[in-house]
Amino acid sequence: MTDKRIENVIIVGGACAGYTAAVYAARADLEPLVIEGFQWGGQLQNTTEVENYPGFPEGIMGPELMNRFRAQAERFGTRFITDDATRFELTDGGIHSVWVGDDEYRARTVILAMGAQPKRLGIPGEMELGGRGVSTCGVCDGAFFKGRDVAVIGGGDTAMEDSIFVSKYADRLTVLHRRDDFRASMVMQDRARETANIDFKTPFVPEEFVAGDDGALDHVRIRNAESGDVEELKVGGAFVAIGHIPGSELVAGQVDLHDNGYVKVEEPSTRTNLAGVFAIGDLVDFTYRQAITAAGSGTRGALDAEWYLRDTPPTDEERIEAAEEAAEAV
Ligand code: NDP
Repeated sequence: MTDKRIENVIIVGGACAGYTAAVYAARADLEPLVIEGFQWGGQLQNTTEVENYPGFPEGIMGPELMNRFRAQAERFGTRFITDDATRFELTDGGIHSVWVGDDEYRARTVILAMGAQPKRLGIPGEMELGGRGVSTCGVCDGAFFKGRDVAVIGGGDTAMEDSIFVSKYADRLTVLHRRDDFRASMVMQDRARETANIDFKTPFVPEEFVAGDDGALDHVRIRNAESGDVEELKVGGAFVAIGHIPGSELVAGQVDLHDNGYVKVEEPSTRTNLAGVFAIGDLVDFTYRQAITAAGSGTRGALDAEWYLRDTPPTDEERIEAAEEAAEAV
């Protein structure tokens, strides 16, 4: 089915960035259509307490925060499709198409907000102990591990940054990495190595997160990558910081991407290389990756789309299609 209507804006992705863009676009009378995904809510849907989102001094549960974002977008007339986008046909300044299965939706602007997923180790206990000791975000969850011994797994800048942040709360922090060499920049490595309560343990591969009697993380079973020896690292918290995978697969080859797969935008705007196509949130941002920064970029995306629509009059073809659509609606 092809929807006759040509939308002002289709937002693809239902989480911090996408819903914020929807609030702004809806309040600008653009009647946005959000293709929010079957499992909308993004990374916050898998988070427990969020303590660093301004406006909630007592904290708020991640899923509840997402419900509120969505409700706020709905209040101003946003329409939602609770399913996954499956195909894109993006143009440079023309009408863009987004498919959900066999259904085609068309729009003058598209805001890409498909986010990023933390990479997982794929070992036993990792998913089961999420929220009970195993986390993928040090900056989000570090403060819950005050006075505990913790591990950060990974050897890139994210692992270093998480370690430095979490070490402010933890008693002892062990950076576990599978090689002796690190991918992290020297400056970040040095900063971590100079921190008194951070130790480095290499080359070790985590094999299992093991719960104690209380059901929370008790230790990580780790294997020495050279000798094969197995040991237990007793920790109350473990942060998996081995990178993220941006959700850019379906738009690769259409919009320009960085080498690491994140969508390129003309900073500080959210414009991609295609006129009328904007990108926001964790799909673009491999540095900050916070709910509040994603929401902020959602605002920029909606304003960029609004200004584009204001400054780019419809083509004759679009005018004819709109007139036909209006006639059919009578
Ligand atoms: P990276 O890809 O740079 O590093 C991932 C790390 O995780 C590597 O050390 C890798 O090991 C390890 N790893 C990957 N898969 C596994 C696995 N299955 N088991 C065990 N270890 C694994 O990701 P980052 O998120 O750290 O950084 C991504 C980008 O963001 C980089 O360009 C980085 O510079 C940037 N960044 C910049 C920051 C800043 O400037 N403040 C902060 C955070 C990120 P191995 O090396 O063996 O492959």
